[in-house]
Amino acid sequence: MTTNRRIELVAEALRERCVEVLLVTAPANVRYLTAFTGSSGLAAVAASRGGGEDGCDAGAPGGGHVFVTDFRYETQAAEEVGRFAPECERVIAKGELIDAVATLLRERAGAAGGRGAIGFDERHLSVAAHGKLRELLGEELELVPCGGIVERLREVKDEREQARIGAACTLADEALSEVLEGGLAGRSEREVAIELETRMRKLGAEAVSFPAIVASGSHAALPHAQPRDVAIERGTLATIDWGAMLDGYCSDCTRTYAAGEPSELGREVYELVLAAQLAGVEALAPGLSGREVDAAARGVIESAGRGERFGHGLGHGVGLEVHEGPRLSRQASEDPLRAGAVVTIEPGVYLPDELGVRIEDLLVVTEGGSRNLSSLPKELISV
Ligand code: ZN
Ligand code: ZN
Repeated sequence: MTTNRRIELVAEALRERCVEVLLVTAPANVRYLTAFTGSSGLAAVAASRGGGEDGCDAGAPGGGHVFVTDFRYETQAAEEVGRFAPECERVIAKGELIDAVATLLRERAGAAGGRGAIGFDERHLSVAAHGKLRELLGEELELVPCGGIVERLREVKDEREQARIGAACTLADEALSEVLEGGLAGRSEREVAIELETRMRKLGAEAVSFPAIVASGSHAALPHAQPRDVAIERGTLATIDWGAMLDGYCSDCTRTYAAGEPSELGREVYELVLAAQLAGVEALAPGLSGREVDAAARGVIESAGRGERFGHGLGHGVGLEVHEGPRLSRQASEDPLRAGAVVTIEPGVYLPDELGVRIEDLLVVTEGGSRNLSSLPKELISV
């Protein structure tokens, strides 16, 4: 039988932890392992085919991997999961998916006459679902928090995934270039955001990665500002943060433009953020931790005495989700970044009641350093 490498790697991680089965409930993780794109799906990855032959008792509940969905997705699951993860037994639940999988695991454990550990993702399973599982699994099966196993695999993107993210970036860049042809000054933030989102959809995006941010003047001092029905004034800076979703993968990019002629302060802050952004891009390489790359960019802003005004992390991973691992921040893990990670570098300086500047690129960490997927120029442009 064809084996799905991703599922095989999860099984390996489970054997190391002596956990027999991992319940995969987060939709992005389910999609990553099985290619299922529907909204109701759950996977149970087995450490082994049973018998505890791997040095610990992993395998006691027996049986192979399972994918559970409901009747609405029977055909879709046969196509997607059947092709991508044929080793998963497909089960159509009559009621709740969690009930179906718990019943199945309990039957299997009973048949194998053993106890066992069932891993779950504590960051995704609700307290209610956990309580129900606890009840249905019975005393023999222990529930063990195992969050992060699939997320860690997802951090390193293969070439196909990198190509999809790159295509999403190209599409998003093209959409913004079209919007900028109409200028920014005098148009409302909301109007620009709606036009940008519409153009991404028309260019083939299946969705936006997140609602576009368009924030001008003092409103841009809020890093996650909502676009307002307020005209972008001449002489102010406007920050645009946007992304497209294509083939399930996201892009994420930010540019700050001058509507007309920028102020002295606007120009100064812009140059500072740009210098920090370039320092971050320059530092990005495998072997360095997300904390070290953050420090490389942050140091530039701190040296200029504006460290207090850069209150968020330098960047984050992007893939099936727009915010995923690895993180680049002061609190990030000290583990070295791995080639194949796709991360943003997005320093910002926010001066309350005055202005905000953020510049964000999306990059792939490569063996030799990094490759930038964002193509729009970064010098301060007046539009
Ligand atoms: Zn962004
Ligand atoms: Zn971002």
